[in-house]
Amino acid sequence: MKKIFIMNLGTTSFKFKLYHVDGDSMDVRASGEIESVGAAQSRWQYSDCNGKSASGASPVPNHGAGFTLFLEMLQVEGLLRSLDDLNAVGYKAVHGGNLSGTRIVDDELIAEMERVTPLAPAHNPIYLSAMKDIRKNYPNLLQIARFETSFHATIPDYRTTYGVPYAWREEFGIRKYGFHGSSHEYIATTMQKLQPEAKRVITCHLGGSSSICAILDGKSVATTMGATLQSGLFNNNRVGDFEPFCLPMLMEKLNCSMEEVLAILSKQSGLLGLSGVSNDLRLVLEAADQGNEHAQLAVDTLVDNILGYIGMYTAYLGGLDALVFTGGIGLNSDIIRSRVCEKLAYMGLVLDANANNGRTDGCISTTDSKVSVWRLKTDEESIVAMNVCSMLQ
Ligand code: ADP
Repeated sequence: MKKIFIMNLGTTSFKFKLYHVDGDSMDVRASGEIESVGAAQSRWQYSDCNGKSASGASPVPNHGAGFTLFLEMLQVEGLLRSLDDLNAVGYKAVHGGNLSGTRIVDDELIAEMERVTPLAPAHNPIYLSAMKDIRKNYPNLLQIARFETSFHATIPDYRTTYGVPYAWREEFGIRKYGFHGSSHEYIATTMQKLQPEAKRVITCHLGGSSSICAILDGKSVATTMGATLQSGLFNNNRVGDFEPFCLPMLMEKLNCSMEEVLAILSKQSGLLGLSGVSNDLRLVLEAADQGNEHAQLAVDTLVDNILGYIGMYTAYLGGLDALVFTGGIGLNSDIIRSRVCEKLAYMGLVLDANANNGRTDGCISTTDSKVSVWRLKTDEESIVAMNVCSMLQ
């Protein structure tokens, strides 16, 4: 039996799950999260399989300190006898450049993550800092990273290439990588169990950060994010695909540096920028209902963007057997699901209105629909845990 501590890190957030893995069975024994890492007081919460749950506030200066906080809690609560009781820590790491898949955190991996940090400036530094801290403080602890790009390694070269000088791909790694791999992989694996005959699947991971993936026979063959997590779908506060030739004009008109324009495109654009209301779809939908035209335009743009990619990916797949919605928006917004699906009636896709309005995970299309539609909760950490465990074995 293996004990694995899986980390999912955000700029100021820390989430963990402790897994016990025994053969094919995998249990979450404890989980927890910290908000406002780096602030004077960070809020944390913890719960475990013995029914213990606790929360509190204390200074957690960085993600490495977050690991120590939970490591000590797990020992106090008896879930780990000592550090040696832990077989490995696993990361849902983001951008590994030329390194993909599941890998031991070593000098080569750290150097490659550092090299591609300009392509994932919000994510790679926090993972690198945690990896280095844990390496320093717990030198005998095995650290393993599963990259978010991994599931997309099967996308053909002609679809990961930009129309730029070929040397850029070789020399600078300017190519499409794709992200949210653990989520799309989890849905692909789940669909193979739920509807094994569905060979052509499109997964829509719609949340704070969104991407769509085309899956053929369980393998990713296209996805919306590219060299960075910024491209592709119109997001809550990110622009998604955009015209790079506008940048010089924006810098001049706004009297801004390139970094400042990029910060607007990545933090104050998308739903937030267009609606001027919020980056939370619930508030944008509310404003649209009350007649706010910009909010309505933002919702229409989001739906149209999703629809466009579904059309493109259906062409790539040569048809569509199943369409899956996941992520905070995908799971919770019956409105977005129905607005997208009503435009897919031409495929013979028919949503079951009652199932769509409900809150249960599962199939939400009618029995005679030519394409099945699903609302499924994703579980990214379980994919990381499974891959870390296969590596250990
Ligand atoms: P993250 O990508 O940060 O993990 P989530 O996948 O949890 O985020 O998605 C968060 C988003 O889900 C919020 O920004 C909110 O807009 C959206 N959301 C949550 N519930 C609803 C709802 N009932 N209707 C519409 N959107 C929702």
